[in-house]
Amino acid sequence: MPELPEVESVRRSLEPLVLGRVITRAEVRRRDFCVVLAEKNSRGASPAEFLENARVTRLERLGKQIAIVAADGRSVCLQLGMSGYVDSTRGDDPAHTHAAWTLDSGERVRFVDPRRFGGLTCYPTFESLRERQWAELGPDALETTPEHLIEACRDARRAIKAVLLDQGVVAGVGNIYADESLFLAGIDPRTMARRVAPERLARLAESVRLVLARAVELRGSTLRDYRDPSGQPGSAQTAHAVYGRGGEACVRCTTTLRSCRVSQRATVWCPSCQRRGSLSSR
Ligand SMILES: [Zn+2]
Repeated sequence: MPELPEVESVRRSLEPLVLGRVITRAEVRRRDFCVVLAEKNSRGASPAEFLENARVTRLERLGKQIAIVAADGRSVCLQLGMSGYVDSTRGDDPAHTHAAWTLDSGERVRFVDPRRFGGLTCYPTFESLRERQWAELGPDALETTPEHLIEACRDARRAIKAVLLDQGVVAGVGNIYADESLFLAGIDPRTMARRVAPERLARLAESVRLVLARAVELRGSTLRDYRDPSGQPGSAQTAHAVYGRGGEACVRCTTTLRSCRVSQRATVWCPSCQRRGSLSSR
């Protein structure tokens, strides 16, 4: 499942292709996949709504969503879901291409999603996209601040990891980077959020930014892979400290890493480096 670093690397690799370009043809293959949100329900988008004859001026990102913004305001929000990706290779469209843009450069950009958990949503303006779709998201995880996290945890009677995974609190933290950030900050993922001391939360905010920024750089260094026929963004595996390493030795202290489920998500932590009860200052 693409997390923030993968989505940011998709955004960065799209920029040189589409910025300043005019979309000469917009194709909507699956009308249930490329939609316009009406008042109560959604309907399939037309080519015009899907940016036909628009000049692309900006690519924005919030959390795991990307917005393609045109000069006249028309905007499309991309959600990669579980298996979605953007393909710009030459040659035939890959299987499961649900929508495609042809640019005045002759290049072709497709949205491919075999499992169809992702989607594209069209808006007449970027402001309407932000109001309708991004208002419910918290600030971007790369800009997590101590103040914001402390406020979000003040009365939170749920595990600190559950707070991190809540896209309404911070946008873009998924399972991998929640575990990695909590390890870096030395906090047991099961700790009730309101019991984590403010100074620890400040450290956690810093850890979230650090872990994600590092992952963005790693993905960024493998952008070339994005152009592979598979269309998958950067394939280099990040050296995870805890994620996926339950039962193995902690990289810091060699204690055996433990695993359990928090908020139905597989969770790994070091019982020695990551503390629980002793953190409480309230
Ligand atoms: Zn350890």
